[in-house]
Parts: sequence; structure tokens; C-alpha cells
Amino acid sequence: MKDFRFQGLRNKLVSQLKEKGISDKRVLDAIAKIPRHLFFDEVFRNQFAYEDVAFPIGQDQTISQPYTVAFQSEMLNIKKGHKVLEIGTGSGYQTAVLSFLGAKVFSIERQRVLFEKASIFLSENGYRAHLFFGDGFKGKKVFAPYDSIIVTCGAPFIPISLKKQLKIGGRMVIPVGEGNVQQMKLIVRSSEDEFKESTYGEFKFVPMLKNINN
Ligand code: SAH
Repeated sequence: MKDFRFQGLRNKLVSQLKEKGISDKRVLDAIAKIPRHLFFDEVFRNQFAYEDVAFPIGQDQTISQPYTVAFQSEMLNIKKGHKVLEIGTGSGYQTAVLSFLGAKVFSIERQRVLFEKASIFLSENGYRAHLFFGDGFKGKKVFAPYDSIIVTCGAPFIPISLKKQLKIGGRMVIPVGEGNVQQMKLIVRSSEDEFKESTYGEFKFVPMLKNINN
């Protein structure tokens, strides 16, 4: 398919996201510009890359639905130069969106194969991010504190280690719940030991798992 065809599909996707309530112009611009089809295996690019659905990326994992990516990105209210920690690199698409928004991104993935694939792909395509293979429950203390933390897998609970890695005033967006459906939660660290929590409806994610997978 030609590039202008993909651009057309991206524009259509952006209109759908607007209709569904996404209004942050920079987030919509990221979705309009980033070639999501390149994050897919070649055989699926033409057909599925710009549908507003999650899609398999191998290793039993999925690239998040564009609406979910936009929703979580909008909630973080990212400013240029913000330090953002992502849990669940997966395809690297959300990582690319955060980097497009001007964030300094640190992203952790527990599946070795996906970690390696995303590392190569993102650097080859000019997206700057620091990727790590490891367990997201622990976060990445050496680079803390973060302006924002985004968890892109369904967490069984809110890990305390992640809360502790937020700046005062920092925001964490995390889908919480076991099973098929999670509640999207926003945690704002209002002081050293105070956290404000609010809930934003149901979403579906693959589970956040404990031990790493080599
Ligand atoms: N942000 C990704 C979404 C991928 S799906 C994208 O845009 O494509 C969620 C990812 O979280 C999967 O790749 C899964 O392997 C990873 N994951 C699950 N549990 C994890 C953990 N404890 N630490 C780090 N990554 C984890």
C-alpha cells in the first residue's frame, strides 16, 4: 500500500478517536503521524493497522487499541522533557507516542523476544527511548523519580514500588483488575506519602505478570 493510503487511514482513525472523546491535540497529532502499520507483522499491515482494535504481536501479547493508547497518553498530560516510565514495551507503539510527545521514555518489558524486537525497531526508526528487559513490578529505581508512569498491562494491584518512584505531583495511569477487564486508575502523588486515586471506566489489557520470560 502507498504511504498516502496509510495517511488516509490514520486521518480516519484520528476522527474516530475524536468522536470517542479524545481531545488532546498533541496526542491526536502523534496518532496522525506515527506509522502504526510498521509495528505490525508485514502480512497484517494493510488490513488491521488502523482499525481501532488491539492486535496480536506474538508471544501471546497485543499492541494496545489506539483508543486506549490515546486515552492513557492524554491522562498523563505530558510536557516536553518529562521523564516517563512505561511498563510493558510490547510492540513499542506506545513508547513511540510518548517519545513523539517529547517525553524522555524509560520502558520495561518482561518478554525477551519482544524486548529485543522493540529495541531494534525503535532505534532503527529514530524513536529515542531507554528500553529494559525486566520485571515492571519493580519499576526502575535508578532513574526515578518520574513525572509519569504508564502501565500498559492489567495489574492485579497497584505496586507500591511504582508509587514510590513518582515525583511529588507526578501521575500514574494504570489499569487495575484481574481477569479480562480492568478499571483505569489515575494516581497522583500529592505529597511524600499522600496519593489521590480516581477511576476512569473499563478497559481490556493482557495481564501484568510477575516473573520475567527469557
Ligand atoms: N505498550 C504496548 C502494549 C503491549 S501489551 C504496545 O503499545 O504495544 C503489554 C505488555 O506488557 C506485553 O508485551 C507484556 O509482555 C508486558 N508485561 C506484562 N507483565 C509485565 C511486567 N511485569 N513487566 C514488564 N512488562 C510486562
